[in-house]
Amino acid sequence: MTARANNQYLGFPEVRTAAAGRWEGIHRALGIQLATTSHTKHTACPGCGGKDRFRLDATYQNTGRWICGGGGDTQAGDGFSLLGHVFGWTPLEQLKAVADYLGLSSANDKERETLRRKAEAQTAAMLADAQRKHEQARRDANMVAAIQDLEDLIKHRQHLQRQAHLTSSLHRVTINPLEDELSAAYTLNMLILESYASQGSNDQ
Ligand SMILES: [Zn+2]
Repeated sequence: MTARANNQYLGFPEVRTAAAGRWEGIHRALGIQLATTSHTKHTACPGCGGKDRFRLDATYQNTGRWICGGGGDTQAGDGFSLLGHVFGWTPLEQLKAVADYLGLSSANDKERETLRRKAEAQTAAMLADAQRKHEQARRDANMVAAIQDLEDLIKHRQHLQRQAHLTSSLHRVTINPLEDELSAAYTLNMLILESYASQGSNDQ
């Protein structure tokens, strides 16, 4: 088994799950003074000072996420790591403090199991979401490439047409769409349809 099983405290996934939606209260209770909870305002950093180098993420209440441009070196992290940035705590100290505040250190086996399952479900949902985004990015890249192919072929035909006009001024010359061009348009069409179909199934 992992070291986590021997730890009297729950692991990061479980404590993170329990902390979602409560980060402002957690940080305040543990002694971090936030000038504002608005993610649009830049303030001094509760850890390294300055004037306007610090800002909360839009997801702050759920994730505790923050961004600090302290000393020109941008740092960012979740609600746990802000405790490291401000107090210099190690990850284990951060975990223990948040778990203690949430009353999880005295959670019984059943409560721990419930939290564990919830954390696993959230991790699985996050992975599935990342996979969907990855698939969409791949489809987008294929579409961009197909559009480029089609454009190149059309330009090639225009070029041939111009040359034909120059060399035979007596006849009106028309060059039909190239077979490659039609094939490229067909490919693009298929990719767009595939993309729309998959987006529809993601919306369920
Ligand atoms: Zn800072």
